[in-house]
Amino acid sequence: MTKIISGKEMAQNLKENLKKEIDELKNKFGKVPGLAVVQVGNVSASSVYVKAKTKSAKDVGIEVIDYHLEESTSEDELLKIINKLNNQDNVSGILVQLPLPKNMNEQKILDSINPDKDADGFHPLNVGKLSISSKIIDDLLVPCTPLGCLIMLKSLDLNLEGKHAVVVGRSNIVGKPMAQLLIKESCTVTIAHSRTKNIEDLCRRADIIIAAVGKPNFIKNNWVKDNVVIIDVGINRLEEKTDDGTKIKLVGDVNFDSVKDKCSAISPVPGGVGPMTIACLLKNTTIAFKNTLNL
Ligand code: NDP
Repeated sequence: MTKIISGKEMAQNLKENLKKEIDELKNKFGKVPGLAVVQVGNVSASSVYVKAKTKSAKDVGIEVIDYHLEESTSEDELLKIINKLNNQDNVSGILVQLPLPKNMNEQKILDSINPDKDADGFHPLNVGKLSISSKIIDDLLVPCTPLGCLIMLKSLDLNLEGKHAVVVGRSNIVGKPMAQLLIKESCTVTIAHSRTKNIEDLCRRADIIIAAVGKPNFIKNNWVKDNVVIIDVGINRLEEKTDDGTKIKLVGDVNFDSVKDKCSAISPVPGGVGPMTIACLLKNTTIAFKNTLNL
C-alpha cells in the first residue's frame, strides 16, 4: 500500500505545537515572535503565498508586521526598510517574498537581512552554516521548503542512512539546501539539473527522489523503481477547461497518478510540501525569537 504523505496534516500538527510553545513563551517573557512580511509589487502567486503565510503566522500567535510596497519601489528604499526591520526589537524574523521586481538585485537584498532574523534561511551566513555544521539544525535557520521535505521524510518508517537520494533541481532555495540536509542524514546524494545526462536512468536508481524542477508531470512511471519514496516540491498552475469556463489546477513535478502505485510513499500536490513550507517559516521565526532570549 502506498503511503500518501499528507503535508497538510503534518503542518497542522507542527503549527499546533508552535502555538503551544508561543503561548508558553508569552506567559513567561511577556512577548511573542514577530515576523515582518515584505512584498514588492503584485505578482499574483506571491500575493497568494503572502496571504497564506500571514494568516498562518497570526493563527499560531506570531505578530505580523506587514509591508506591501509598490512595484515602483527602488532598491535603496527597500534596503532602508530592511535596515529598519533589522534593528526593530519586535521583529524576530524577516521574510522578503520572491521574486522581486527586475530592477532589484535579489541577492543584494537577501544579503542585507540580519542573518539572525533570516526567517527564510537564504542569507549566505546561514547557507554556510548549513553546509559546514555536522549537527542538525535545532537553532539554525534552514530554508523552509527543504526543511519541510526532510521532516516529511523523517516521519516515515525509513532509515535514511546510506539511501541513494536524487534531488532534481539545484536552486539555492530548494535543490542545494535539500542536498545538504540529506548529506547530514548520511544519504548518498545526486543532484540533477537541466544539463544532466540520462536523468531517467539516474532517477530509476534512486531510493528517494526529491522533485524540484518546475515542470508539470515531469517525472513519469518508467523513471522510477518499485518502492521509491518521492517528495514532490513542484507547484505548477495548469489551465483546465470546465463547463463553467477555465479553472486553474495545481500539479506537481511528478505525474502522481501514473507513479503512485510504484512508490512506498509519495507526497501529493496540493497538500504536500506547500503547507510544510509555511509551517517551517513559522518554526524558523520562533527559533530566531528564542535565540534572542538565549533559549
Ligand atoms: P528554479 O527554477 O529556481 O529551479 C529549477 C531547477 O530545475 C533548476 O536547477 C533547473 O536546472 C532544473 N531543471 C529545469 N529543467 C530541467 C530539466 N528538463 N531536467 C532536469 N532539471 C531541470 O525553481 P525552484 O527550485 O525555485 O522551484 C522548483 C519548483 O518547486 C517550482 O515548481 C516551484 O514552484 C516549486 N516550489 C514549491 C515550493 C513549495 O512550498 N512547495 C517552494 C519553492 C518552490 P538548471 O539549474 O540547470 O537551470
